[in-house]
Amino acid sequence: MVKVYFTVDVEIWCDGWNDIDNKFNAAFQRYIHGPTKKGNYGLPYKLDVLNDHGLTGVFFVEPLFSLRFGADSLAEITGLIMEKNQPVELHLHTEWVDEAKVSPLPNITEKRQHLRHFLPDEQKVLVETGKNLLNQAGVAHINAFRAGSFGFNVHTLSALREAGIRVDSSYNATLMGLDSGLMPGHIVTEPLVHDGVYEVPMTVFYDWRDHLRHTQLCACSSSELEGILWKSLEEGRKEVVILSHSFELLDKSCTRPNPVVIKRFRKLCAFLDKNRDCFSVEGFSDFTVDNVSEQPLPLRSPVWTTGLRVLEQVWSRYA
Ligand SMILES: [Zn+2]
Repeated sequence: MVKVYFTVDVEIWCDGWNDIDNKFNAAFQRYIHGPTKKGNYGLPYKLDVLNDHGLTGVFFVEPLFSLRFGADSLAEITGLIMEKNQPVELHLHTEWVDEAKVSPLPNITEKRQHLRHFLPDEQKVLVETGKNLLNQAGVAHINAFRAGSFGFNVHTLSALREAGIRVDSSYNATLMGLDSGLMPGHIVTEPLVHDGVYEVPMTVFYDWRDHLRHTQLCACSSSELEGILWKSLEEGRKEVVILSHSFELLDKSCTRPNPVVIKRFRKLCAFLDKNRDCFSVEGFSDFTVDNVSEQPLPLRSPVWTTGLRVLEQVWSRYA
């Protein structure tokens, strides 16, 4: 049995940092509800499809935006997720720190994109702030964390431990994982414990020679996703972490549905529903691992599935 974490990063962008107070309401609709002329394809749609198949996702919600725009919008997001009995976990995009009306770090006046750009004590303040904002928005307990853009480092894990958050899923070997300070010289492919916190890495695979790719809904074909899942089972891997976003079923303009990714998402949910004797799709509330010493090399996806993905991506641009 392989544990599968279907993770959804829920966040809002005003597409630049100018005039954000005027842009916010429209941005909130786009990035959360995903309205299009053909229907809504945002967060509620994703929640419904998961629930239709009886699957549990992991919704990493970014709360720092509410330091600028108020608690009601954040409570709307957490309410949408909790009324569907899906878990809310913590995601932090530190780009919001200098935009806050009352900043948790008043000395930070410039834009800092990644959590790792902050000192260990500053990271603690930000994690605690995010946790409190979610608590105030009705989330009773936070089990897991993911840094925005996967920009964490080992100090983040200490901050999580102090905040009582047991699981981190910020390690991504295709982005900043390798210089995070966690197992230097190795690619982390399976859960491990560091500083009292479980690190559950993003699943990455070689799609072409030595090129690593992370397992993201909009960036992998259906055959790649299913291939990764079957291969994980065959090789006795413990877990597969899949990434997606609240707005990932839309095209780049966030105004039109992306039929290829919608079909892929529905197909993945049907696949996981049908094969629940092999794959256990779950949240992080009861996360634990017995043996954390083995770190096998990343999986290798057959070249033909990569070719199919390239075709799917070309098609999605014209669909
Ligand atoms: Zn994010």
